[in-house]
Amino acid sequence: MTPPTLPPLSEVIARHELTARRSLGQHFLLDPGLLARIVRAAGALEGRHVIEIGPGPGGLTRALLESSAASVSVVEIDRRAVAAMQELAALAGPRLHVIAGDALRLDLPALVPPPRQIVANLPYNVATPLLIAWLRQAAAFERMTLMFQQEVAERLAAAPDSEAYGRLSVLAQWTCAVALELRLPPSAFTPPPKVFSAVVSLLPHAAQPEPALFATMERLTAAAFGQRRKMLRAALRGGLGAEPAARLLAATGIDPTRRAETLSVAEFDRMARELAGYAAGTCISPR
Ligand code: SAM
Repeated sequence: MTPPTLPPLSEVIARHELTARRSLGQHFLLDPGLLARIVRAAGALEGRHVIEIGPGPGGLTRALLESSAASVSVVEIDRRAVAAMQELAALAGPRLHVIAGDALRLDLPALVPPPRQIVANLPYNVATPLLIAWLRQAAAFERMTLMFQQEVAERLAAAPDSEAYGRLSVLAQWTCAVALELRLPPSAFTPPPKVFSAVVSLLPHAAQPEPALFATMERLTAAAFGQRRKMLRAALRGGLGAEPAARLLAATGIDPTRRAETLSVAEFDRMARELAGYAAGTCISPR
């Protein structure tokens, strides 16, 4: 069947009065070549159920519908954009599902069966809490291909001993293989944001921590990086209490005078398991 002719995105924006709202992190991508590159960064989509957060006027949604994804489910909080999406669904047919709501409050895995992927140009004001929520249940997703502001993207991919390495790097790399896929200047967006942006792919590891271990890692990294200039001994004392912190460092053989930013993800893993009372090598919820 010939695909339907869709109206230009500029017309959709005008008709639905989709003037960008900063409070909703609205910076739209309209260049089809660029949108196709983001979809390519997601890899093979055949047979996959794709969830897109924040479709806005639907540029990325259209590019996703051009792929061989089994379905595309869009979650949008702005009623103007929801109306635009419903119009697109009427033209695009049953592969497109429109969900009106706040992605922060939704259980994404309940929306579609596996294999699931998330592909999104995220609203930057809620990108980090959204990502952490998805990392908590990373086993539910085959892959996430996400646009962040560049500074956040660099933190996700950062190596130990670098300025950008921190809590987000550990949580992301502990659960996923992280790669920076492409960088975009502000001029790629309408309206342009103040900062550069970057697409990151996150490929969940085959073995994932159980929820209790993930919660322990969140507590540990919050304590360790909460005072990143301090030695671990002092930083962990603040977050965990003096005695548990000393016991943890002794049991894992980690030098208490080191700083959090020098610890590898494997060392954080060792500490989280010790703190949670796990035997080495347990976790694990297979996908
Ligand atoms: N995907 C579109 C594009 O690339 O042109 C728009 C991306 S724009 C950066 C972010 C989108 O997320 C906006 O459409 C905004 O309304 C939506 N949004 C913001 N907060 C949201 C939330 N909590 N839940 C769902 N969508 C949200």
